[in-house]
Amino acid sequence: GARREGRNHIEFYSPTAWLQARRRLEIEHALRGALEQEEFSLAYQPLIDLADGGVCGMEALLRWHHPELGPCAPGEFIEIAEATGDIVAIGEWVLREACRQAAAWDASGLRFGRMSVNVSAVQLRDPGFTQRVLLACADTGWSTARLELEITESALLLDTDALWECFGALQSAGVALAVDDFGTGFSSLSYLSRFPVGRLKIDRSFIAGLAASDGTGRAVEVTRAIIQLGKALRMQVLAEGVESNEDERLLREYGCDEVQGYLHSRPLAPREMVRWLQARALSADHVEPVHASMG
Ligand code: C2E
Ligand code: MG
Ligand code: MG
Ligand code: MG
Repeated sequence: GARREGRNHIEFYSPTAWLQARRRLEIEHALRGALEQEEFSLAYQPLIDLADGGVCGMEALLRWHHPELGPCAPGEFIEIAEATGDIVAIGEWVLREACRQAAAWDASGLRFGRMSVNVSAVQLRDPGFTQRVLLACADTGWSTARLELEITESALLLDTDALWECFGALQSAGVALAVDDFGTGFSSLSYLSRFPVGRLKIDRSFIAGLAASDGTGRAVEVTRAIIQLGKALRMQVLAEGVESNEDERLLREYGCDEVQGYLHSRPLAPREMVRWLQARALSADHVEPVHASMG
């Protein structure tokens, strides 16, 4: 029986663990046909420049709707797609779709700055990755200079010659790199002085505590330290998960460059994003921009 085989098997006696394992298998199976069945879509979340309150970019976020599993969050299925290797094909679809949408919006006169796309460590291990990125831009007509790739600290742990070459080639082509979920990766910071990273995205777990702690407390100190680190290294710093005016006020005071979060907008379906950008462009014609100096 499982019990005699050791600790690792005992969990299968628990019904919740059994349900979790079954759900995982169902997702794994459903993921196989998801691209072909066109079950994926992208949501977009605006990135806001704190200097002038303008939209300086947007992040593409993957959404999956399977007819039987129902909506399944990326937090649940990305990890499984990484384990099976499906993330390589899915990630390529994300990249091409985000570039296609960005080029179409740009051609229709919408102003939104850069398009930022999440990239998994598994994609970076693929030797053809750089070429795929450049080809996605060439095929869709989206400028490499307006593309940013978001990479987690754990992906930078790879630290291989191949990864170096990949980043070098992307940098020469004008593609920007950001470190996502900064501060949660348990990795050494040594990569910051070696890889051509232009932006740090402070993880929202630090930002969630800002306003509540009224400018005191450890999350505040970590946030301020990350902003100082970014400045010292001449990087841009963006704060994720900004939900209140008070969060934003504190971040501006600390010298943070950009914010992203529910305060400005949740991730939106493409059509909603068009309306959001149009409404914002209209109100910007009438309302004075927010200025960085408030004192
Ligand atoms: P991320 O790249 O750090 O994306 C930001 C996440 O924070 C998004 O969750 C977004 O909806 C959420 N968020 C934004 N503002 C707020 C806020 O004010 N409050 C709160 N509570 N949450 C906020 P989402 O869309 O569920 O994505 C989760 C993660 O899944 C992403 O974190 C990213 O790591 C991964 N992911 C999403 N799309 C892709 C993709 O196309 N490829 C890869 N490899 N990973 C992806
Ligand atoms: Mg991201
Ligand atoms: Mg992030
Ligand atoms: Mg995050």
